[in-house]
Amino acid sequence: MMQLPLIRLAQGQLNLLEICPPQFQRLYLEELGSPISPEEQEKQSWGSQFHLLMQQRELGLPIDSLLKEDEEVQRSLNGLVAAVPEIGGLTGTILRDAEHCRTLNFQGYLLTVVYDLLIVEGKKAQILDWKTYLQPQSQKKLAQNWQTRLYLYVLAETSEYLPEQISMTYWFVRLPRTPASVNFIYNDLLHQQTRQDLSSILTKLDSWLAEYLDEGIAFPHRLNCQEVCPYYSSFFATWGKSSIDLYTSIENIEEVSI
Ligand code: SF4
Repeated sequence: MMQLPLIRLAQGQLNLLEICPPQFQRLYLEELGSPISPEEQEKQSWGSQFHLLMQQRELGLPIDSLLKEDEEVQRSLNGLVAAVPEIGGLTGTILRDAEHCRTLNFQGYLLTVVYDLLIVEGKKAQILDWKTYLQPQSQKKLAQNWQTRLYLYVLAETSEYLPEQISMTYWFVRLPRTPASVNFIYNDLLHQQTRQDLSSILTKLDSWLAEYLDEGIAFPHRLNCQEVCPYYSSFFATWGKSSIDLYTSIENIEEVSI
């Protein structure tokens, strides 16, 4: 196979590899992104602004004047700070770091995570993540998402903490009333399962990449979603026009198939 530089993979790429390999090929190998809708753009910029303000707050920088510019962000941020005691600071904390980045070399790929807030105390390490979309996801769906699995796995592999000492909490901050949370406590069984699943998905990626680069063979469609995917038969002809619709369809397919 043609020699490639080390490939960096985050949770989004792992999710896509699992849900729709052809879309992974299109977005990450061919860099064929599509324009996003104004509504989607608004959600993304709201989320970026919220994350930035939380990081600035953690660094002790003044944010009051920025908060005054957006009442909704202000309400959500104050609601989160009131609901999460850890944000205010805990006694005995060894490390707390916002936008904390870690990388792990796994089978020749660089697995990358960015924790919104990492808090390390005597016998436990907590990952906190701010979710800014409007509907909280179910615990089951979040448990299967590569963000949960990868974030916990990488921390266990790159720290001295045992899986049982590590947890991850999602906080859904953009809700009309108070923020809601979903919490995951890690363990050794889940850790072994994640290692196995990562190995399996990256072994497949090795072979798809080799076929794609050496022989021009496209990444394969999944078998169990072809019947319900309206784009399967006209995949390549359809991409340019409606990949936003396709994304929605793919998400629905994933919900059905799990
Ligand atoms: S059938 Fe549709 S959702 Fe499934 S892999 Fe192919 S394009 Fe993706």
